[in-house]
Amino acid sequence: MNLIFATNNINKAKEIQHLVGDSVTIKTLIEIGCLEEIVENGKTLTENASIKSNYVFNNFNMNCFADDTGLLVESLNGEPGIYSARYAGEQKDAGDNMDLLLKNLSNIKNRRASFMTVISLKINDKEYFFEGELKGEIALEKSGNGGFGYDPIFIPEGYTKSLAELSLDEKNKISHRAKAFNKLKDFLVQNNIN
Ligand code: IMP
Repeated sequence: MNLIFATNNINKAKEIQHLVGDSVTIKTLIEIGCLEEIVENGKTLTENASIKSNYVFNNFNMNCFADDTGLLVESLNGEPGIYSARYAGEQKDAGDNMDLLLKNLSNIKNRRASFMTVISLKINDKEYFFEGELKGEIALEKSGNGGFGYDPIFIPEGYTKSLAELSLDEKNKISHRAKAFNKLKDFLVQNNIN
């Protein structure tokens, strides 16, 4: 069966296609002709994921899932959260976002943070949610060249290196997104959705 992934990020789509195998064909928004911007005006990651999957289900009548991820910093009351991509402005620049976060955390001792991914799966008019979390802390400075987003300043719990210093394989074993995607995959397999 076809399952729509409400994203235009081909790499994310390939990642989940690899996880679920051949029985489910993952299609992205562009592949179903959904070219309009889906306005993510929810107040939480869950609401935003739900807005995206419901938009496709309601407008295209197709089973769909959507994900939303944020970095939640404990001493900043969960910021940047849903604003992670555009924390330092609409240019959505990862370097600017990290600089602002490091500035906002200067002189703050508690640097605990976590990445959280929420997936909403809308299937046959029912909605299911799956979550994945990666706990860690915000480093004092950037290190490493791998990954994307906040990876150079995020040190996972139990590690001394930043996510940007880990190989993609290592990151995929522990990441928030991998955990949430694996739960989605297990659900699809257990419920014979293929
Ligand atoms: P999205 O919902 O997957 O588009 O993620 C929103 C924002 O969270 C991204 O633009 C990044 O700034 C940040 N982010 C999400 N996942 C990661 C990650 O694995 N590493 C670093 N930053 C991430």
